[in-house]
Amino acid sequence: MDIGGLETVVANSAYVSARGSLDGNAVATMRDKKMRARLKLPHIKQCEHMKATVDSAFDSMCVKQPVGKRLFQQYLEREASHKTAGELWKDMEDYNTAQETDRLQKAQKMVNKYYDSASKSFCSFLEEKAVSRVKEDYKNTRGDLFKESEQQLLKHLEADALGGFKNSMYFLRYVQFKWLEGQSVTEEWFMDFRVLGKGGFGEVHACQMRATGKMYANKKLNKKRLKKRKGYEGAIGEKRILAKVHSRFIVTLAYAFQTKQDLCLVMTIMNGGDLRYHIYNVDEKNPGFNEPRACFYTAQIICGLEHLHQYRIIYRDLKPENVLLDDAGHVRLSDLGLAVELPPDKDKTKGYAGTPGFMAPELLQNKEYDYTVDYFTLGVTLYEMIAAKGPFRNRGEQVENSEVTRRILSDPVSYPDKFSVDCKALCEGLMEKDPLKRLGFKNNCCDELKNQPFFKELNWGRLEAGMLTPPFVPDPKTVYAKDIGDVGAFSTIKGVVMDDKDTEFFNDFASGNIPIPWQEEMIETGVFGELNIWPENGKLPDDLDP
Ligand code: ADP
Ligand code: MG
Ligand code: MG
Repeated sequence: MDIGGLETVVANSAYVSARGSLDGNAVATMRDKKMRARLKLPHIKQCEHMKATVDSAFDSMCVKQPVGKRLFQQYLEREASHKTAGELWKDMEDYNTAQETDRLQKAQKMVNKYYDSASKSFCSFLEEKAVSRVKEDYKNTRGDLFKESEQQLLKHLEADALGGFKNSMYFLRYVQFKWLEGQSVTEEWFMDFRVLGKGGFGEVHACQMRATGKMYANKKLNKKRLKKRKGYEGAIGEKRILAKVHSRFIVTLAYAFQTKQDLCLVMTIMNGGDLRYHIYNVDEKNPGFNEPRACFYTAQIICGLEHLHQYRIIYRDLKPENVLLDDAGHVRLSDLGLAVELPPDKDKTKGYAGTPGFMAPELLQNKEYDYTVDYFTLGVTLYEMIAAKGPFRNRGEQVENSEVTRRILSDPVSYPDKFSVDCKALCEGLMEKDPLKRLGFKNNCCDELKNQPFFKELNWGRLEAGMLTPPFVPDPKTVYAKDIGDVGAFSTIKGVVMDDKDTEFFNDFASGNIPIPWQEEMIETGVFGELNIWPENGKLPDDLDP
């Protein structure tokens, strides 16, 4: 074996063994004890001043933020007058994520306990209509059985329990966690593992948050290269958009920080490689996917696009290379560097952005466009998953971009025999040259698209809840990335001088922890449980004693 090959083997084995620590109790043993000891709650005196300014809106604090929600639920459990509402809430969540086969039994118990006026746990805050609908419907085990009840429950809790929570010691604990969350982040908190891929401005490495043991991907953007190639706007745009969206079909940003050389985006690690690799490199003699597999990925991509479009974000760079697999074989959209957010007063944008062979006709013609361009790229991506070649380029063909553009604008797409009727129809609906006739995002959703015959076997509700079993599960011992020597090096950048303006931009970018993913990490890795200690006797813990 040559030195490059050996280097890859060593790097892979360090990375595979760190990655193994992701699940279960192993994580605690993979932590760096010194760094873990630095994650501790301050005495309340040190952060009391934050009580008035901390985010304490009901929906954000008690529902969306995982730590806030836990503490709010602990408060409900302890208060006799809210105990039942808290139990109903937890039972609803349990029902929503349960297997279909377990739902009837769970629903039956809940109906008896909370919906029967003779029960001592009857929830009188639920409106009569909602109560009778659940009683009539529960045998159908629908996914959204408790949707209406949940809205009423949350409204009730906001009106009746929020005030009490804010006067309780659980809220003080929330303030302590928000203080900890707001501490600055530097590179010493992370340990880099092998390179996973190469981006335009730097490498992407596997990395581990030292204090919790959680694995992430660290996308580095070299400061000099960013300045030289005028990448500031794209970088801050990517960061802002990633921090805003929270979907299981889009990579999540957990930290943004800086080092002397780089800006760093710490994101969900996607260990299973990208779709381009799986289409072409896993089975080179037989490239491409069968239709059920392509259907599953296409559906998950649609959910990611729908989420972006609901946030008024146009992705513009959908292609197999930007769709990444996780350990279980679910996919997420990544690389939001070309995404744009439409301002509230505008419904279209302009500008040449994307990858040759994927860009929609209206974009290539320099017209104004909106979300429609992402459904054209979806059509190209689906076509490539099946055909193992682009619709406007033959495999290995050397062809000018201008010729690819000409084909996109004027040539019909031809379909190899292996396309089914439904798959071909969907590709045609998506690669429709006229954006007005194209399938896509209508009335703020993708329902028309989801109802196409190609998806007739697919349960969208279960897919959206992450409950469908993926058609392919990546091997946990395989590293789905190029050998280190094949990733390619960057040339050195010369003649770039930084000034105050640059520093200001870097500080703005390096805003630290992103609240929801940071809180998720604390809970998932057990750190929240270790820090959130209450004395048995119901007294105030020392760190909350004024
Ligand atoms: P750029 O915007 O510069 O093209 P990308 O975001 O596409 O950078 O990242 C470059 C490469 O790094 C990707 O093609 C992929 O191989 C790898 N990569 C990026 N993000 C992740 C991630 N979250 N998990 C695993 N690998 C990733
Ligand atoms: Mg990329
Ligand atoms: Mg990019």
